[in-house]
Amino acid sequence: MSNVKILVVDDSSTMRRIIKNTLQKIGFENSVEAENGIDALSKLKAGGFNLILTDWNMPEMDGLTFVKSVRGSDTFKMIPVIMITTEAAKTEVVEALKQGVNDYIVKPFTPEALKAKVTRFISA
Ligand SMILES: [Mg+2]
Repeated sequence: MSNVKILVVDDSSTMRRIIKNTLQKIGFENSVEAENGIDALSKLKAGGFNLILTDWNMPEMDGLTFVKSVRGSDTFKMIPVIMITTEAAKTEVVEALKQGVNDYIVKPFTPEALKAKVTRFISA
């Protein structure tokens, strides 16, 4: 599964490190970080991404705008997107799913929980 390429989008560098380390722990070593939607769209252009994990509240371009851009793009629209959210953000989750987010995971999460979500979209 090590050829699976995952884009990790979050404005918190601490959160990005936690997610990246967790992905590594569950066997996904090829991940790329982006700090907001604009950065993420730019990083996507490198190609080959199998999955996007994205935060919602970010400066420059938030998760909602980013997901709309991804779903509106002929090149990127098929990439599965998992939203990483906080327990309090129920209305955001509803809006996110409406905008084409495939699934979500609530922070803080265990490696097992992240693995369960990620493997839903990555076939072995
Ligand atoms: Mg944030």
